[in-house]
Amino acid sequence: MLRPTFRRLGASAGSLASPSFAATAPSSLARILPCRASTVASSAATQPFQRRPYSYQPSAASTSQPQDIHPGSLTITETKTPGKLEKPQDLVFGRAFSDHMLTIEWNKDDGWLVPQITPYQNLSLDPATCVFHYAFECFEGMKAYKDSKGEVRLFRPDKNMERFNKSAARIALPTFSPTALIELIARFAKLESRFIPADRGYSLYLRPTMIGTQKTLGVGPPGSALLYVIASPVGPYYPTGFKAISLEATDYAVRAWPGGVGDKKLGANYAPCIVPQREAMSRGFQQNLWLFGEEEYVTEVGTMNFFVALQNAETGAKELVTAPLDGTILEGVTRDSVLALARERLAPEGWTISERKYTMQDLATASAEGRLIEAFGAGTAAIVSPVRSISWRGQLVHCGLKDHEESGAITTRMKNWMEGIQYGEEEHEWSYRC
Ligand SMILES: *Cc1c(COP(=O)(O)O)cnc(C)c1O
Repeated sequence: MLRPTFRRLGASAGSLASPSFAATAPSSLARILPCRASTVASSAATQPFQRRPYSYQPSAASTSQPQDIHPGSLTITETKTPGKLEKPQDLVFGRAFSDHMLTIEWNKDDGWLVPQITPYQNLSLDPATCVFHYAFECFEGMKAYKDSKGEVRLFRPDKNMERFNKSAARIALPTFSPTALIELIARFAKLESRFIPADRGYSLYLRPTMIGTQKTLGVGPPGSALLYVIASPVGPYYPTGFKAISLEATDYAVRAWPGGVGDKKLGANYAPCIVPQREAMSRGFQQNLWLFGEEEYVTEVGTMNFFVALQNAETGAKELVTAPLDGTILEGVTRDSVLALARERLAPEGWTISERKYTMQDLATASAEGRLIEAFGAGTAAIVSPVRSISWRGQLVHCGLKDHEESGAITTRMKNWMEGIQYGEEEHEWSYRC
């Protein structure tokens, strides 16, 4: 069943499955494709066949000026078969997707081509396309929120665009104007507004993605790329309130290293993290804590940045600590926001806010002396995720919560401050009206 399908994919010379491809695909395709093939097929029927070379072939040098992303030339093709909305309480992270997608192709001669919003559909890529072989892929994770007036808002999209450009540049993919892509993502989020449930905690998860699309097994900079954005409605990470998680410190594998790419959101960074996470889960821990080096510096938790609140052994002063951006730490937008809010709102209460290295031994000692106040992960998906304990060298390091508590005071306050801004309850420069 699969063979003819793959032949077909190859034969189509890797054109973006603009409706044209789906229309000519054998019916067996519909069965192996997870997304709404029926939507694609029915909208395809109404559009003329348009063969567009997608994977880039080398050609004579061009004299044209490469274009940046141009939001003004956006074309929108709305779906003729809008999808059914899931009940908000049934939403599972990353399972259901909205009706449309935003795509922008790039090639080295012309630069960025016309941005398009089309029905959500499959991509068609030649099997020799470089993304499949050498992992030319980077991505972002951000959310659109609905405020009490029904307006759609983004949260610090400039930070995501800055990081997206850094990730792309690191793997020889093209960069782009951040404001141009924000404008397009805002248009896209607004178009998908019906997928954002109005209630607090709900949002539309946006996944900007960039892939190298050149058809070649040669290892080199891709001559063509595709930037696309898809959207998935999501519910609160903790629907029934915080649930503190327990971690296993991973000492046999590292996530990132100096001079590496752990500070970039490259797809290649994530697959190797699944086995240590599965190992931790097999022993009853929800996530693994990444350590680095013989000193066992604490770096990140799963795919979140990590914060601890400590009491100083000599002075008794309180300190909120996270690892510094030394190239091994992902520059989380949530991390940056937590630090900024802490400097603004906790420092006046006497807190010191530190980006510094600290070890697993430091935490174990602080815990034993009753100076580990609380610990939490920080990332877009959960905002903050309280941590109860860390398993390390056969001991269980307690992170300050009492048995009946699921979150520390700082963790809870951070969540409320962040949501207040994200949902527009507190007017703030971080909130971007679409
Ligand atoms: C995405 C990510 C984070 C969190 O970043 P946010 O911008 O706050 O969502 C932290 N660590 C890793 C490894 C990540 O991939």
